[in-house]
Amino acid sequence: MHLLLFGPPGAGKGTQAKILSETLGIPHISTGEMLRQEMADETPLGRKAREYVDRGNLMPDDIMIGIVEHIIDSPPCKNGMILDGFPRTVDQAVALREMFTRRKLVIDAVLFIEIPHELIVERLTNRAIVENRADDEPRSIMNRLVVYDKNTAPVKHFYEDEGLLRHIPGIGTVEEVSERILGAIKK
Ligand code: ADP
Repeated sequence: MHLLLFGPPGAGKGTQAKILSETLGIPHISTGEMLRQEMADETPLGRKAREYVDRGNLMPDDIMIGIVEHIIDSPPCKNGMILDGFPRTVDQAVALREMFTRRKLVIDAVLFIEIPHELIVERLTNRAIVENRADDEPRSIMNRLVVYDKNTAPVKHFYEDEGLLRHIPGIGTVEEVSERILGAIKK
C-alpha cells in the first residue's frame, strides 16, 4: 500500500505516520526527518539542506525528486510506504505520478490532515521547546506557513482532481485522528 500524508506544518503528520507504519507494517518515509539526519551527520547533502531547511524554505525540486526516486526503489519500500513531506510542490507531485506510472505502482490515498492556522503556530512553538528544531524558531515558522500556502497548498487541488484526497480533521487526540485515518483508508 502506498499512502501520502499531506497537510500544513504541525498538523501531526509525523506522529500519525509512525502509528500507521506500525499498524500497517509498511515503512514511514519522512523527507524532513531524512534531511535533518543528513544535516546532523554533516554530509554534503546535509550541508546543502542547511541553506534551505533552517530558514523554512523548500529544498530544490530536482534534489528532492532524485531522493524520493531512490527511496521508492529501495528494498524496504518494495511492498509500499507512507510518504510524509513529499510532494510539497505541484512539480514534485507530477514527478511522483510519473515515477509511479513507470513502475506500475498506484497511490492508494492521499491523507490531508487539516488544522486551523492558530493551532499550527501554537503546536510549532511548543515543539520548538521540546525538540529544539532550528526551523521551529518564530521567523522560520512564519516563513514555513507562507511557503506552505504558496507552494504546497496547490498540491491539495492536484490530488483532489485525481480523486485521491481524503480530508482528515487534525483536531482531537492522537488516537481520534488515527481512527479517522484508518477509517478513510478502508473506504
Ligand atoms: P513539517 O514540520 O513542516 O511537516 P518536515 O519535517 O516535513 O516539516 O520538513 C522540514 C523541512 O525539510 C521543510 O521545511 C523543507 O525545508 C524540507 N523538506 C522536506 N521535504 C521537502 C520536500 N519534499 N521538498 C522540499 N523541501 C523539503
